[in-house]
Amino acid sequence: MRIDILTVFPQMFAGPLDASIVARAKEHGLVEVWIHDLRRWTTDRRKTVDDRPYGGGSGMVMMVEPIDRALHDLKLKVKSEKLKVILLSPQGKVFSQARARDLAKLDNLILIAGHYEGVDERVREHLVDEEISIGDYVLTGGELPAMVLVDSIVRLIPGVLEKPEATELESFSTFHAPPEYPKSTGRAVRGRYPLLEYPQYTRPANFKGWKVPEILRSGDHAGVETWQMKQALKRTRERRPDLLKGK
Ligand code: SAM
Repeated sequence: MRIDILTVFPQMFAGPLDASIVARAKEHGLVEVWIHDLRRWTTDRRKTVDDRPYGGGSGMVMMVEPIDRALHDLKLKVKSEKLKVILLSPQGKVFSQARARDLAKLDNLILIAGHYEGVDERVREHLVDEEISIGDYVLTGGELPAMVLVDSIVRLIPGVLEKPEATELESFSTFHAPPEYPKSTGRAVRGRYPLLEYPQYTRPANFKGWKVPEILRSGDHAGVETWQMKQALKRTRERRPDLLKGK
């Protein structure tokens, strides 16, 4: 996959994309992440990317022209039809693990990080395929949201994680009840619902009297699996009942 990010603050990306799984994926050639300074596509001496809003109001709005020119150039580098141009925006559809899985199947992503009061509406209307929000709050810019998308998508690209099956059972991933799971646990577990993950423990088995559940140390694999599924369901019911309602 190739990911291009358009930003007016390229320096913000140093660090988060140079460590851990994203860095390893880049080293192994599984993903290329290119950070582009939008000012490269300006034409005036001051490298202006924003202007005052029509109709008045506070703050500045990012101009459509540099973004249009940048997208034109970046699309020339794309070798596949499997491309999406995404504007990070608090007004977009809220990002999810399911969306991350879909986007991980693409060959190219172009992410546009807005700043200031946002971007000229014509960018949304004519230049992007979709708008994605990372939650119902307003950040200073789309740089952190772009990094959130990159991190969550890259770890789902085949070959990036050493044990990709681990992502099948983690929070928000589709959960399948195996045949031996007791029917009495209800209808919900047999459907395709994104659950929160079950609780995890590591050594020591007893810390200050806080003990790891006995079943996890029993060696009874079927028993452990059943316990984990029950816990995942319990957790989801308690903390995120909305997830069990389905789509
Ligand atoms: N005036 C805009 C509004 O009220 O909808 C907010 C603009 S915000 C200060 C500047 C930029 O930060 C946005 O253009 C967007 O790229 C990014 N941004 C802020 N919050 C975001 C969020 N929750 N998800 C994704 N991007 C966000």
